[in-house]
Amino acid sequence: MRIGFIGLGNMGTPMARNLVAAGHQVAGFDVAGVTIEGVAPAQSATEAATGRDVVITMLPNGAILRNVADEVLPVMAPGTTLIDCSTVDVESARTVAEQAQAAGITAVDAPVSGGIGGATAGTLTFMAGGTDEGFATARPLFDIMGQKAVHCGAAGAGQAAKICNNMILGISMIGVCEAFALAEKLELDAQKMFDVVSTSSGSCWSVNTYCPVPGVGPQSPADNNYTPGFAAALMLKDLRLSQDAAGAVGAATPLGAQATALYAQMAEDHGDQDFSAMLPWLKTRGAD
Ligand code: NAD
Repeated sequence: MRIGFIGLGNMGTPMARNLVAAGHQVAGFDVAGVTIEGVAPAQSATEAATGRDVVITMLPNGAILRNVADEVLPVMAPGTTLIDCSTVDVESARTVAEQAQAAGITAVDAPVSGGIGGATAGTLTFMAGGTDEGFATARPLFDIMGQKAVHCGAAGAGQAAKICNNMILGISMIGVCEAFALAEKLELDAQKMFDVVSTSSGSCWSVNTYCPVPGVGPQSPADNNYTPGFAAALMLKDLRLSQDAAGAVGAATPLGAQATALYAQMAEDHGDQDFSAMLPWLKTRGAD
């Protein structure tokens, strides 16, 4: 396929590399002037999108996505496909999909989970929103860049799945960190706590796979001085998106709101640390 790739940052660069390695013709554009071996450098988003079967975007937020969509949709031919893999607000995803549809272009919102490691290894999970036809076109590309793709529903459903999942993750990580901080004050050994919780009803991904305690459980960012992983600033971004969405539809998410407030405080000084650094941050707040 002839693919235009717009947004060659931490995630976009390895994703574009994997498409090239699979034999696709990729033209890439990033405002930061990133060049990648095997990716034809374009001078603008419109140049990257012109004459392509598929355009993929991997951008920081919904406002930038909307601007880029305004630029590229007019130069994309009817029958082509726009796949947005960024994490953005549901509203932006739906607006871009409507704009695309009006121009005869198929839009798919397809945010990912798996982080930079997953993008590099080609093991991302894609959560897609859009038509059956759009998902069918995107699927072979998802299979190259990832190991799992779920068609979640109509336009915006991929973004909805992503922010709901990450709201659970943010809340559960805080719960796990609170429990380990409490256990320490109660003089309960962290390894013993892990042994019990990881096989009891408190077990969850934040304990079993991504334990926030250094030296306990499988290898995680806690064992690497809380180097991300998944940065606290990105968790805060996703939690804020969940709260915007909850406000827009009138959903009660009291713990989501509390998690957002806590990550906002924690990320002020530690936004570039992994989100599991909530544990040492909570410990600094506990009374001696
Ligand atoms: P990043 O900041 O490294 O990359 C974004 C890139 O977009 C940058 O290189 C920037 O120069 C470029 N850009 C900005 N405006 C542009 C424009 N108008 N035209 C072209 N390029 C433009 O961010 P990232 O970590 O690669 O994340 C990208 C998206 O993926 C975000 O929406 C993020 O929330 C999501 N995401 C990131 C991770 C992660 O672990 N990094 C995990 C899952 C999802």
